Amino acid sequence: MPDRLHAVRRLTTALLALLVGLSGGARAAQPATAAKAPASKTVRLYVFDCGLLNVTTEGVQRYHLTSAEVGEPRMSVPCFLVAHPRGTLMWDLGVIPDRDVDAQPQGARASLNAAIDAVVTRTLRSQLAQIGYRPADITYFAFSHAHIDHSANANEFAASTWLARPAERAFMWADNNTRVNPSFYTGLKNSKSVVTIDKDEYDVFGDGRVVIKSAPGHTPGHQALVVNLAATGRVMLSGDLYHYPQERTLHRAPPDNEADVRQSAASRAMIEEYLQKTKTKLWIEHDFAANAKLKKSPAYYE
Ligand SMILES: [Zn+2]
Repeated sequence: MPDRLHAVRRLTTALLALLVGLSGGARAAQPATAAKAPASKTVRLYVFDCGLLNVTTEGVQRYHLTSAEVGEPRMSVPCFLVAHPRGTLMWDLGVIPDRDVDAQPQGARASLNAAIDAVVTRTLRSQLAQIGYRPADITYFAFSHAHIDHSANANEFAASTWLARPAERAFMWADNNTRVNPSFYTGLKNSKSVVTIDKDEYDVFGDGRVVIKSAPGHTPGHQALVVNLAATGRVMLSGDLYHYPQERTLHRAPPDNEADVRQSAASRAMIEEYLQKTKTKLWIEHDFAANAKLKKSPAYYE
């Protein structure tokens, strides 16, 4: 009875398609329940979209540059995940907390100061979920520095181990510090899972592939991340050592509102020498045009 057999097969296929569709729909609606990503076999670097900054003409001039010189005044706000066989590291945590982004589906906006406004359309949590991670799964986190545009989601990672420099911790809770928002990191104040970094370089996973390097000046404990990738090579995520690529090529003095301008200038000189000596590429995190060309998660560098 081939006709009835065909009918049963068609019905089975339709039911299967319906089930696959339902489970797919459920996954899309609840990305936080996505299966946990297995440990990465290689070192991978993921780039997330944590928003952008609109900067006024006066804002651009703070970097001792003109609008004509920079061309593109906007700044990118990336967040990064390093997946290593021995664990994971989140680096820089965005400018507007996820809960505020969730509340503004058309895009959350926040004014950082008279010259800079932030716009964020995607949560960090949803981008992590897309590749199988929840914030609670992340082994380590660190930020280049605690300014508002690098620390917004720190509370989400309070259960992970924080890699922190004492100078930055002091700065984070200093009185009258208008460059930070301590409500972003209330969960860190009494955190028991902190590793204190008290030397120039800190080797996160013990194999030299992921190293946090001191570069103070922009803030007292400002630091950069160096990732040694098998195919891509050595990459430095330089925090706010520079904001615009023209600061690097035109050799202008660091902004006047650095925590310590002379220390910033010394860090720039030291890092440039390090990059040359170690054949490391520099990724300026706020470089909008360069960021636009980077592969974004779920794609990754390895
Ligand atoms: Zn910044």
